[in-house]
Amino acid sequence: MNPFAYQRATDAAGAVAAVMGRPGAAFLGGGTNLVDHMRLGVALPDLLVDVTRLPFDRVEELPDGGVRVGALVRNSDLAADKLIRGRYTALSQALLAGASGQLRNLATTGGNLLQRTRCVYFQDVSTPCNKRAPGTGCSAIGGYTRYHAILGASEHCIAVHPSDMAVAMAALDAVIVVLGKDGEHRVRLVDFHRLPGETPERDTVLEHGELIVAVELPALPSGARSAYRKVRDRASYAFALVSVAAMLDVRDGTIAEARIALGGVAHKPWRATRAEAVLRGAPATRENFRRAADAELADARPQPGNAFKVKMAANTLVAVLRDLTSEAAR
Ligand SMILES: Cc1cc2nc3c(=O)[nH]c(=O)nc-3n(C[C@H](O)[C@H](O)[C@H](O)COP(=O)(O)OP(=O)(O)OC[C@H]3O[C@@H](n4cnc5c(N)ncnc54)[C@H](O)[C@@H]3O)c2cc1C
Ligand code: SF4
Repeated sequence: MNPFAYQRATDAAGAVAAVMGRPGAAFLGGGTNLVDHMRLGVALPDLLVDVTRLPFDRVEELPDGGVRVGALVRNSDLAADKLIRGRYTALSQALLAGASGQLRNLATTGGNLLQRTRCVYFQDVSTPCNKRAPGTGCSAIGGYTRYHAILGASEHCIAVHPSDMAVAMAALDAVIVVLGKDGEHRVRLVDFHRLPGETPERDTVLEHGELIVAVELPALPSGARSAYRKVRDRASYAFALVSVAAMLDVRDGTIAEARIALGGVAHKPWRATRAEAVLRGAPATRENFRRAADAELADARPQPGNAFKVKMAANTLVAVLRDLTSEAAR
């Protein structure tokens, strides 16, 4: 591991100034992703600014019925929080589907959003990778692609974003609160992560030194239900092959509102806007669920090693929608 300096931040503006003023500086959250990357030589920060003592560790109800989650709320605390379990079931389920109990105890909300891809070539510094070393090529294309993208990829990178939590937040219309040099601004989660295009080294729209301070979850329609389902190679410690987060508001058998996101299929949590458009205003039937899934996956471009994901994603989406509308779930 390269030598690095360590500072414990005592105020948010000071933390932002410290990282912005030094190109090699990075924030340290729970360290469960960044420290692994430092050990592997994937990340080489020369200064770590530890933000875990900043006062962003609360889950608070907002006056409009939404909820504000501090960026330092640990994943296990967020999953167990009463407001989250009661109102945002998909988010609690997604968090509990991620990593292990010990990791969730350390991992923070902000760090989880910024965790980097698990593409094996990205983590192996002996192989070409445009995301880690721009311009070197993509070892995954023509290589091992079981965990790679089927939607929105480019010839420069076919990696997927690994977070479960972010997929649920995408379906719940979450907004990220960012502190930069000019104060706070807000970015919708669906606009926060990027598709790879020609610059796969950039995962998000965040500028160097900008600090995530919170995530806000808007109030859901009164009758809304939400759920998260993850399909993976084994029951623990495995990233999603595909996952689905969905929120449905069904009134008298008709879908008044549908918000859906897919995980494990793209460089960002994939908001399934085509499926939503098919479902809005339609009867909540299995045929319509299938039509919605097919519409969403129509543009899928799988790799030779992950063609199975297209059907898997469609079937998982149908299954989640059926669960959400089954009599037993009411
Ligand atoms: C064995 C293993 C299995 C896992 N399985 C899963 C899984 O199934 N599903 C899943 O979703 N995740 C999984 N994870 C990943 C885990 O969820 C992430 O490592 C964790 O959420 C990262 O949070 P952290 O606070 O530790 O981030 P850190 O490692 O501290 O930071 C990650 C990145 O975010 C930056 N950062 C941190 N906080 C902020 C902030 N507030 N503002 C701006 N930048 C910030 C850091 O500089 C760094 O670049 C797994 C990890 C391991 C090691
Ligand atoms: S898919 Fe992306 S992360 Fe993986 S090797 Fe190619 S460029 Fe690197």
